[in-house]
Amino acid sequence: MATDRAAATRAKWLETLTAHKRDPDAPGSKDYWAPSLDCASRDELVAIQNAKLAALAPFLYENSAFYRARFDRLRLLPSDIRTVDDLAKWPVVDKAEMMADAQEHPPFGTYTTHDDALWAERGWMLFSSSGSTGSPRVFRYSQLDRELWSWANARALHAFGIRPSDSLLICAGYGPHVFAWGVQFAIAKMKVACIPGGGMTADMRAMIVDRFKPTVLVCTPSYALHLGRVMEEKGLEPARSSVRTVLVGGEPGAGIEGTRTRLEKLWGARLVEFYGCTEASPHCGGYSCPASDQGPGPVTTHLMEDTQIWELVDADTGARVPEGERGLTVCTNLNSESSPQLRFLVGDYATFSTARCACGRTHVRAVGAFAGRADDLINLRGIKMYPVQLEGAVRAVPGVGDEYEIVLSTDAAGLDIMTARVEHADPGVAARVAQEIRSRCEVRVEVEVLATGTLPKTEFKAKRVRDLRRA
Ligand SMILES: [Zn+2]
Repeated sequence: MATDRAAATRAKWLETLTAHKRDPDAPGSKDYWAPSLDCASRDELVAIQNAKLAALAPFLYENSAFYRARFDRLRLLPSDIRTVDDLAKWPVVDKAEMMADAQEHPPFGTYTTHDDALWAERGWMLFSSSGSTGSPRVFRYSQLDRELWSWANARALHAFGIRPSDSLLICAGYGPHVFAWGVQFAIAKMKVACIPGGGMTADMRAMIVDRFKPTVLVCTPSYALHLGRVMEEKGLEPARSSVRTVLVGGEPGAGIEGTRTRLEKLWGARLVEFYGCTEASPHCGGYSCPASDQGPGPVTTHLMEDTQIWELVDADTGARVPEGERGLTVCTNLNSESSPQLRFLVGDYATFSTARCACGRTHVRAVGAFAGRADDLINLRGIKMYPVQLEGAVRAVPGVGDEYEIVLSTDAAGLDIMTARVEHADPGVAARVAQEIRSRCEVRVEVEVLATGTLPKTEFKAKRVRDLRRA
């Protein structure tokens, strides 16, 4: 009977997960939460991925309408996807396919392994994508997934050097966004102190830093800049505050040289970063390597490979690219019953390396972190660039304010143009900004220099690009 197979394949998947879940509740060593996983040989990591994948494919086939239909359409059997190498048979799933499923079966779609009766029985928590491209999409995560998520994130937070003697100030709205909640769940497991900084103004948060002396600040990179400046205005030097680690997520930060150095200098602190997306949560995703943040060389981000399989694919052909070549990120979520992605196109450009890492971890690294989503690519008269490239250029000019804006518009002659609006005390800085952008992005740009404090302050995620072009 179908229901028997549904239960049996779930039991097998759970049993496989349990077999490879080590150090579930406390760190196994001083430097590594789960040393036998974090430092496993590459062969062992692949063996774990293969074991989980072989259990996941039948689990999905028997429990998810979305995956069953896709297997049938591709004329594949669950037994065809048993190893990492078999994944090439399964074309990547993109956001458009996920959205079409959700629109046909609103509001959640059919890709999860739970029907409504199971959800009602097991409980859930709602999350949503930030809607950076298209309308926000909604997700439900089960209690089992949240427990596995807190374990994976605890391993990453341990790698960042966060310990029970620390206290975190989490500056987030506590809305349905994965980044802050993922940290929140993990620190409960880690017995690390927490100050939930939701529903407060920057002024109030600055006073909390001063009064309660958190050692770790958790927020977006834009917000860390804003809060630091608010502290300065109040005569509280952030670099002399209790904060020794700034943990960022939600938007690219550590990989943008100018942004990273600006934040580290402002706070006199180390910058560490989470990488991921709502679709492939609940799970750690990527976390910046504790060895690379000491420099020299680029920041690198580890991707947790015993819980997820990460690949890079060619943007045009969708074929897997060899190690060392640039491609778009694709994630297979092995440890999730709520969001069990099989080759989901996350879509950030990256370059991977499995070379031995100085921190001792063996999991693959994205070298130079992540350069932003492919969907965010700006195309101006055929010249293509990423918002992070523009950010790098703007931040390279000394004295430019933290807030800036890129406006794309069409001029009277019908030509599409780009204007950078920056804050600076000296209007003469326009030429320097234009030159930085031209040399990095090979594009001519108008620069408008505004008085300091003109642009609105970022309260959560920065919205830096405004596209007003006529279609
Ligand atoms: Zn490392």
